[in-house]
Amino acid sequence: MATYTPMIEQYLNIKKHYQDAFLFFRLGDFYEMFFEDAIKASRVLEITLTGRAGGSEEKIPMCGVPYHSAAGYIEQLVEKGYKVAICEQVEDPSVAKGVVRREVVQLITPGTQMEGRTIEEKQNHYISSLMEFTPTSYGLVWIDLTTGEGNAMLLKGSLDEAVLKIAATGTKEVVVADHFSTKAIQTLEKSFSITVSIETNDMLTEEFTNVVKTIERVELQKAAARLLNYLSKTQKRTLSHLQPIIVIHQHDFLNMDMYSMRNLELVETQRSKNKQGSLNWLLDETKTAMGGRLLKKWIQRPLVDVKQIEKRLTLVELFNENYFVREDIKELLKGVYDLERLAGKVSFGNVNARDLLQLKRSLQNIPAIKETLKMIDHDEIHSLLNQIDTCDELEELLESAIVEDAPLSIKEGNIIKDDFHKTLDEYRFVSKNGKNWLMELEQRERDITGIKSLKIGYNRIFGYFIEVTRSNLSQLPEGRYERKQTLANAERFITEELKEKETLILEAEEKMIGLEYELFISIREQVKQYLTRLQKLGQVISQIDVLQSFSVISEKYGYVKPTFTTKREYMVTNGRHPVVERVLSDTEYIPNDTNLDEITHQLLITGPNMAGKSTYMKQVAVISIMAQIGCFVPVESAKLPIFDQIFTRIGAADDLISGQSTFMVEMLEANFAITNATENSLILFDEIGRGTSTYDGMALAQSMIEYIHDHIGAKTLFSTHYHELTVLAEQLVHLKNIHVAAKEQDGKVLFLHKIFEGAADQSYGIHVAELANLPKDVISRAKELLNDLESNERPFIKEEPKKQANLSSEIVREVNQNDKTPEEMNNDSNAQLSFFDVEKPKMKEM
Ligand code: ADP
Repeated sequence: MATYTPMIEQYLNIKKHYQDAFLFFRLGDFYEMFFEDAIKASRVLEITLTGRAGGSEEKIPMCGVPYHSAAGYIEQLVEKGYKVAICEQVEDPSVAKGVVRREVVQLITPGTQMEGRTIEEKQNHYISSLMEFTPTSYGLVWIDLTTGEGNAMLLKGSLDEAVLKIAATGTKEVVVADHFSTKAIQTLEKSFSITVSIETNDMLTEEFTNVVKTIERVELQKAAARLLNYLSKTQKRTLSHLQPIIVIHQHDFLNMDMYSMRNLELVETQRSKNKQGSLNWLLDETKTAMGGRLLKKWIQRPLVDVKQIEKRLTLVELFNENYFVREDIKELLKGVYDLERLAGKVSFGNVNARDLLQLKRSLQNIPAIKETLKMIDHDEIHSLLNQIDTCDELEELLESAIVEDAPLSIKEGNIIKDDFHKTLDEYRFVSKNGKNWLMELEQRERDITGIKSLKIGYNRIFGYFIEVTRSNLSQLPEGRYERKQTLANAERFITEELKEKETLILEAEEKMIGLEYELFISIREQVKQYLTRLQKLGQVISQIDVLQSFSVISEKYGYVKPTFTTKREYMVTNGRHPVVERVLSDTEYIPNDTNLDEITHQLLITGPNMAGKSTYMKQVAVISIMAQIGCFVPVESAKLPIFDQIFTRIGAADDLISGQSTFMVEMLEANFAITNATENSLILFDEIGRGTSTYDGMALAQSMIEYIHDHIGAKTLFSTHYHELTVLAEQLVHLKNIHVAAKEQDGKVLFLHKIFEGAADQSYGIHVAELANLPKDVISRAKELLNDLESNERPFIKEEPKKQANLSSEIVREVNQNDKTPEEMNNDSNAQLSFFDVEKPKMKEM
């Protein structure tokens, strides 16, 4: 066994408890890392690896970062998924006997970061805890340490489904108990940074009584306790900003699984996983970070309670009608900083004077927001007004205490205003007087000696001095000055008088800085008393912000207020897909109606590739989602049901559940929809069954349609290339055929993107083949065969038309780029329409 120096022994003793973290060991002005940590950190952070004698024969690997620039390095490590334990000297080195005592004061992990680039303004930064109760039921709690917001939810379903739910929250780190199997932990690790907490104690200290009082279910209480204990253990401070955890009941919201949210591109686009191009991006005209975060939550959890939805819609309408009020509010909101995160910083103890100034400026905007809102006389506005707490006394305190251009550091003074504290004023008086006295002294000594360049200076070691350049030394009177320091071309002196004053000035300055710090801390403590009020204020401000954003967007893009019905009708005239409409650059979006009345539950959509089938299906869902979050909708008129759940099976499979074939994922998603949907749900199935052979796929598609038709009754949009399925409408009363039109003109295919009733003509493929100049014989034979097939009772295709499909879809793509303007299409609308069928280019997409 190697013997080490006492300091290295101390290091090793502490490191023992933080095996899974980098230990930042404070040594003077540096944080040092040793042994394995040093080797790894030097690689990750690209810093020099050195060695240090530590008692053993070989040098100990070491690397370090300066204390003042440590934040950036910590951030880099945490961003990469590592944990960092900050170990400080906790006693004054000058009074320490032996090795200075050191302790870990905070463990920074991906989910508990409070600052840095990864903390995005308009995003929450969650850490979760997951508990398994049975293999099909889990407890999930997720908390944002930066804002103090917490949520809890019971999850039914498999671990994979739980992973989807956790991913939907945007969690950075998941704390799990060690009862999870290795396999389960591996599953979780694919998506999140995982901390296995071996804590057996699910008891909570009194500190958190208020945080968990809202949770009734024992299982969720346990999950919450585990997370809170972890937070308290890693952060090692009181977390007074944690708000009561909100228990989310699935049936209070329109439920969508992660796949659906991705398919519908609600908060990020599928391709780039970016906000840009998503519904969230489109609707975001919020002016505060808090509003931005709330908007995202609303989009992820649309409401099902008509009353609550109507409330939001009414407020949007009021803002539309009183746009001058809205515009003023918008301007005022720009001056409101992130109250929730400021409150978090206050509680955390890392708030500085500039943060408090932001808080003050935010509060100064609140009365004006109230006054402006008062111009609208309406019950809903009154109820908002009642929730706005201006926190006047806090604003007054900050206004009277903190100087306008306070520095970042809270330890160097210049933070507290004059007239705030009597003793501070006195010290300032002494210090200021002393400085005036020094200036007078300088002048006096110049007069006496006749040396114009004589000056009074200060340095930390010698204090105040009189400096005379070498060439002037001969002019100095004898015995007046005491020599203190010799420089290359000057001498420094002091006098008895100067020494006395120096003591007074320095004492005053030292006391002044100490007192300023004390006062700042006491103000910070006073602000803590307002945490709950500030958080509530933050909540109502963010609601106002999102609602004004809805109003601005509705006005800008001509959205209208939807109405709701309990009769299971979805009736829309001239609906648009709000995002596609915005991103189309050279063509106009073609609006379409949707008529799913009380009888019609299912629409079977046929039409060529690229005609707009999936856009149309998504449009139907997105309009409902917008309506249920309380936003106006892109339609001419809309009468909508309240959907309880939306299921989609559109496009490429997700990568979250890996190790499954695309077709298997498709079936799992279909199963998820079919087993969970109710008559109040919306199902979108885009070409279900295409991942297998034609007969197989068609058979599955038909039986799913029949099952939903007979047993569920959910509103369903089903797009397909299996024309054979269109005959189903003859037997199924709740099913209707619709198709997206395309037409042939001057030898080209034009996509009209227009929905018509009835099935598409299935000779489309042959038309395209003709356009591709296939030999005449091939074409006429194909027509013949088609006729034969069509005269059969159930015209199944005998062979998969793979070759034709790939070839034709190429043409369709190319032709689509030569699209006509909408006017041209309108002019041509009486021309003969022909509808074609082309299979999607499966192979090409690889
Ligand atoms: P499909 O699902 O039938 O293959 P998509 O829904 O993917 O077709 O639509 C293909 C493209 O057509 C879209 O990317 C969009 O640019 C355009 N498009 C779809 N619907 C419309 C519409 N109603 N108006 C204008 N362009 C549309």
